[in-house]
Amino acid sequence: MKSNFDFLMPSVNFFGPGVIEKIGARAKMLNMKRPLIVTDQFLESLSDGAVAQATASLKAADVDYVIYNGVEPNPKVHNIQEAKALYLKEKCDSIITIGGGSAHDTGKGTGIILTNGDDITKLAGIETLTNALPPLIAVNTTAGTGSELTRHCVITNTETHLKFVVVSWRNIPLVSFNDPMLMLDVPKSLTAATGMDAFVQAIEPYVSTNRNAITDSQCIQAIKLIETSLRECVANGHNIEARTKMVEAEMLAGMAFNNADLGYVHAMAHQLGGQYDAPHGVCCALLLPVVEQYNIIAAPERFAELAQIMGENTAGLSVREAADLSIKAMRQMAEDVGIPKSIKAIGAKPEDFPLMAENALKDGNAFSNPRKGTKEEIIQLFQEAYDAE
Ligand code: NAD
Repeated sequence: MKSNFDFLMPSVNFFGPGVIEKIGARAKMLNMKRPLIVTDQFLESLSDGAVAQATASLKAADVDYVIYNGVEPNPKVHNIQEAKALYLKEKCDSIITIGGGSAHDTGKGTGIILTNGDDITKLAGIETLTNALPPLIAVNTTAGTGSELTRHCVITNTETHLKFVVVSWRNIPLVSFNDPMLMLDVPKSLTAATGMDAFVQAIEPYVSTNRNAITDSQCIQAIKLIETSLRECVANGHNIEARTKMVEAEMLAGMAFNNADLGYVHAMAHQLGGQYDAPHGVCCALLLPVVEQYNIIAAPERFAELAQIMGENTAGLSVREAADLSIKAMRQMAEDVGIPKSIKAIGAKPEDFPLMAENALKDGNAFSNPRKGTKEEIIQLFQEAYDAE
């Protein structure tokens, strides 16, 4: 637990059903004259989706805009290069991201290379940015990564198959919009994957070596909200109450990991994502029980608390027995929302594990993991996630 820390919060967060209609006025207030909207073709094609609603509000406020619709899942270096070229060609002055983590990270990455040098791979790491990004608003459509309010920007280098992270307070969007109405039609599998990402982002900071009392409270509340709403969102996407709770949870989890950092689940998930281009939330969910079972001996009391927070009955159990129950609850959640059991499902191959293990230990998320592993141990964890049935 850290007793001396700086606590990062984004500037302004609009939250709740219908808040998207305020984006035009807020863009105007920020003096945005010609924002580049960073999104993908699917979201742009929805007749009443987030892009349609945001652009209607911008038009009403007389704010001109240009659209880059080339965002790919697990955004690549070439995505931010394309967006930067369009930004310069169209003489834009600001950025609005609309989508999930991939859109926000593409927008952040574009801002980074506009003001901090063209080669983003050289900026991987912590607090490497010396210049401010252009003004950035993030409209979130998944619940989710928390990227709309975090200091992280995750980009994939297709040459090395490495997902790398640029972590800086300068990446935090000036304004975020989290409107659950924009998430009602998120398909079941995407709801499950993004919800499991939020679940992992609430669990890893709770056992991180960089946690503090504030992040603890955010993790506890996020986990409780996810326990009582993620299954409901998967079962019925139009349950507004459940969707709203998931947005609250993903924001809380985002704030928690923004300050307490993550662990080996994310460090290893980035390797799966970089190598196999698999959905990030699924990668995290597949690794969660295996990694946290391994972590238990570093913080058994914390895992025993997690079991209680997840609603397990720990009365009469030893700390170790209660800790094991938390892993059972994690497995149950993944199973209930339809996550596959093994990383075979995303095409993982054991011959890739040695290099992925080496790179996982270098990932920025590895350093706050409660148990310090060797390369052989990480290979073993990949193998267990592969053998899981
Ligand atoms: P995503 O942004 O990759 O989107 C996945 C798909 O969902 C896309 O095809 C998109 O069109 C679709 N989609 C998005 N919103 C939708 C909606 N409302 N309805 C229907 N379809 C919709 O998914 P994600 O899980 O939000 O983001 C994953 C990315 O975020 C990964 O690259 C991951 O590494 C990164 N990430 C970043 C942070 C951070 O803090 N920067 C944290 C965690 C993860």
